[in-house]
Amino acid sequence: MKRFFCQCGQEVFLNNLFCESCGRDLAYDPSIQSMWSGELTDNGFVPHSQDGDDAHAPMKTCENRSYPVNCNWLVTDENACQCVSCQTTRTIPDLSAPKNPQRWRILERSKRHLFTTLLLLNLPIRNYRQIENGLVFDFLEDKRTNPNVDLEHVLTGHSHGQITLNAAEADEGFLHTMKEEMGEPYRTVLGHFRHEIGHYYWDKLINSPERLEAFRELFGDERKDYDKALQRYYENGAPEFRSHQYISMYASSHPFEDWAETWAHYMHIVDTLETAVSYGLSVYKPKVNDFNSWYSEWARVAQVMNALNRSMGHVDAYPFVLTDIVKSKLKFIDKVVDSFSEKKNT
Ligand SMILES: [Zn+2]
Ligand SMILES: [Zn+2]
Ligand SMILES: [Zn+2]
Repeated sequence: MKRFFCQCGQEVFLNNLFCESCGRDLAYDPSIQSMWSGELTDNGFVPHSQDGDDAHAPMKTCENRSYPVNCNWLVTDENACQCVSCQTTRTIPDLSAPKNPQRWRILERSKRHLFTTLLLLNLPIRNYRQIENGLVFDFLEDKRTNPNVDLEHVLTGHSHGQITLNAAEADEGFLHTMKEEMGEPYRTVLGHFRHEIGHYYWDKLINSPERLEAFRELFGDERKDYDKALQRYYENGAPEFRSHQYISMYASSHPFEDWAETWAHYMHIVDTLETAVSYGLSVYKPKVNDFNSWYSEWARVAQVMNALNRSMGHVDAYPFVLTDIVKSKLKFIDKVVDSFSEKKNT
């Protein structure tokens, strides 16, 4: 994540609606991946320009700027009322239930964080209103947290552009229980988004016979029965799990899950390394420096992060072992992402 500053010099953060220091309103502009400070008027958001004169035309703010989402993004599609991220949400939990407004806010905040990395990587973001099988999110509840809904068990997952997330994942308590039940100490809402969007981009980016062949060489044959593989994983775990081949235990359940887990890690690395660079802790900017240099740098940064966490009595921030096989998979993802954004730029 980049750092952002208000015109007054105060550091501000991705989700801030206004500057705590000077009171200026803030708006994130996804088209330039940067934050404007200025003033909300009846006609829209008017950015203050650097030389002090307010020459900018008013810009459209996201309809969800109000409670409970408090989204501070600008709308870049002139036909839309919502920002590029909020537009992808189709279903939200019932807001009359006490915890749901906060859950929705947390989910949208993580989704916007996810989108900053998609924008950085220049990946295509077409939603379900724009194309068939476009990106769409459904935030659902099940009986475990709301006895009034019909669904017994909402499973987080992806199918043909549609990403389903259990809204309760936004609760610290639920997340903690799931961490223990599933043996996933690193489980986070952002991690869910990054994993599921990996499935979405598999559909979009593994789109030629050559690429599919290269995918199978690294991740295995995705044609093997997916439902059976997952059922086996949830019933028996992964008895033959070989840690050097996979980034996580879950990745060994099926080639699709290996891809999604590795993709999520690719996004963790790109975003966290960008943060390290923006705070002056590293000089190896992902996507500017070549893969091998920023990948080695990541190992160093992850080590520092874990050591800092241990000093604070927390669990490791990045409890993963990066092996040569995992590196080849990440490198493949890097190549696929590059080839897409190059095509988009020509
Ligand atoms: Zn300020
Ligand atoms: Zn929005
Ligand atoms: Zn998955």
